[in-house]
Amino acid sequence: MAENPWQQRVQRAQELALRHAFAAEILGFYVQIAHFQEELYQRLDVSSHRKIPASELGTPALPEWEELKGSFESFLKLVEAKGPVRLAESAREVRRESPGNWSKLFDRCWSAAESGDPEPQAFLGRAFLQPYAEFVRTRSAIEWNGHSRPVCPFCNRKPGLGVLRQQGDGSRRWLMCSFCLAEWEFRRIVCPGCGEENNAKLPVYTAEGFDYIRVECCDTCGRYLKGVDLTKNGLAEPVVDEIASVPLDLWAEEHGYAKLERNLFRM
Ligand SMILES: [Zn+2]
Ligand SMILES: [Zn+2]
Repeated sequence: MAENPWQQRVQRAQELALRHAFAAEILGFYVQIAHFQEELYQRLDVSSHRKIPASELGTPALPEWEELKGSFESFLKLVEAKGPVRLAESAREVRRESPGNWSKLFDRCWSAAESGDPEPQAFLGRAFLQPYAEFVRTRSAIEWNGHSRPVCPFCNRKPGLGVLRQQGDGSRRWLMCSFCLAEWEFRRIVCPGCGEENNAKLPVYTAEGFDYIRVECCDTCGRYLKGVDLTKNGLAEPVVDEIASVPLDLWAEEHGYAKLERNLFRM
């Protein structure tokens, strides 16, 4: 039985890899990454029980981080051994660099300034920092009831996906941060890219094989994000199902829409 969020995601990734051959490789790699992330998270969880004040959230420099960053080399080795060619090559290059350069990469990723980095490097920094971000977020004293902006209340990034859940008679939408995985409620008929509220400009598409994943487009700004409808498929793990539904991204791009925010694998 899956016990924590990482184990649930791993289990779901294994199921979907069997079902969708086109996504088997990336999901197999995701399983490796998720195991590594889980181990990092567990170490943090055991070593620190304090509440983290908002004033300390600016940089990845907390004592908890000092303990983790020594594991970056093993993370790079894992990506070299198990990752797709492009990521494996990048991991090899980064491993040859000095730890000083690694720290700069972490700083850029933490402050969301990594968009200037080549995608494979942005992946390395983000995937390694993600469990730490999740840890700091859950331990931080930040309250976000009533948050209604289209960016993450914790780290200010754009959402990587949407989640629909049953509530009362209807379903409501949450947005999920592409980095720290925070979720916050957001009105259904509003584009998180530009604020468009006109229903006619916000077409939603679904496709056979993924009828529980909505491609939510905006004809005003040309962006889209995928929304995982848990009222149609309660077994879905939004982060994993978003990664597995690659054909929907190809479809959206062919039709001229650009993704609002790429996922962990920068897809
Ligand atoms: Zn976030
Ligand atoms: Zn828009």
